[in-house]
Amino acid sequence: MGVCPSATMSQLRDNFTGALRPWARPEVLTCTPWGAPIIWDGSFDPDVAKQEARQQNLTIGLTIFAVGRYPEKYLERFLETAEQHFMAGQSVMYYVCTEPPGAVPRVALGPGRRLPVERVARERRWQDVSMARMRTLHAALGGLPGREAHFVFCMDVDQHFSGTFGPEALAESVAQLHSWHYHWPSWLLPFERDAHSAAAMAWGQGDFYYHAAVFGGSVAALRGLTAHCAGGLAWDRARGLEARWHDESHLNKFFWLHKPAKVLSPEFCWSPDIGPRAEIRRPRLLWAPKGYRLLRN
Ligand code: UDP
Ligand code: MN
Repeated sequence: MGVCPSATMSQLRDNFTGALRPWARPEVLTCTPWGAPIIWDGSFDPDVAKQEARQQNLTIGLTIFAVGRYPEKYLERFLETAEQHFMAGQSVMYYVCTEPPGAVPRVALGPGRRLPVERVARERRWQDVSMARMRTLHAALGGLPGREAHFVFCMDVDQHFSGTFGPEALAESVAQLHSWHYHWPSWLLPFERDAHSAAAMAWGQGDFYYHAAVFGGSVAALRGLTAHCAGGLAWDRARGLEARWHDESHLNKFFWLHKPAKVLSPEFCWSPDIGPRAEIRRPRLLWAPKGYRLLRN
């Protein structure tokens, strides 16, 4: 697949609306106040979404960072389960940003699926590894994945797929509801409240609290998102500030200012530590247990 010119991009149907059937989940919120679908298990027809994507001959990118101890600990399971569940039957380009090089396990890839690897610098603090992703992603989207993919997802590596994560999740911009916070009242949400930070949200601001472990969209939308977040992180750093939840705080500010075109229910990125919940039917991604003391230093 070559360069995708903007004419082609504008012809893409990006919401896969033919697949939606929100009436099938009457007990949960399936639409945001600004009219974007919130995707729950059963609220879409996966086969229709698959067909619509196939007709458009899409290439879907998935960027993953794995630095320090994270490649050996998480990368193999993430990639193996992605081969089973992520955009099955579509053309997929994983884009793995790693350090040390050579830490990427051999995983058998299905037809039409590729896995280029890029070496990135190792930051000293885990917070810096996490935050540096926005800058690196911005550059990457201007390069290979940006040229070849129509839509891109950016994900944390400390999780694995446990169910179908298909084209129903694609849209111009996609945000993930945070599984620990989706049912909390707005005033309790952990937005950055320091007015000096670029990520600052005033009381009363904020639609939902989004999880930075999964976000996606068109290349153009993600270029805008990563520029905003990398700029905000640099602004804060120049003032000796660090937002409460690092890159996630800036991501939440971005999605407050630029509403996502699609929102994924917590089923798409679920923490098993929460335990069973009636509305969580089939989780798509499961967080790995946190073993920070061993991993981060
Ligand atoms: N990461 C990494 N090495 C590190 C720290 C972070 O590769 O030493 C990457 C990895 O993709 C990870 C993401 O940054 O999933 C976010 O960090 P982490 O998952 O530890 O943060 P949390 O989800 O706990 O906020
Ligand atoms: Mn994580």
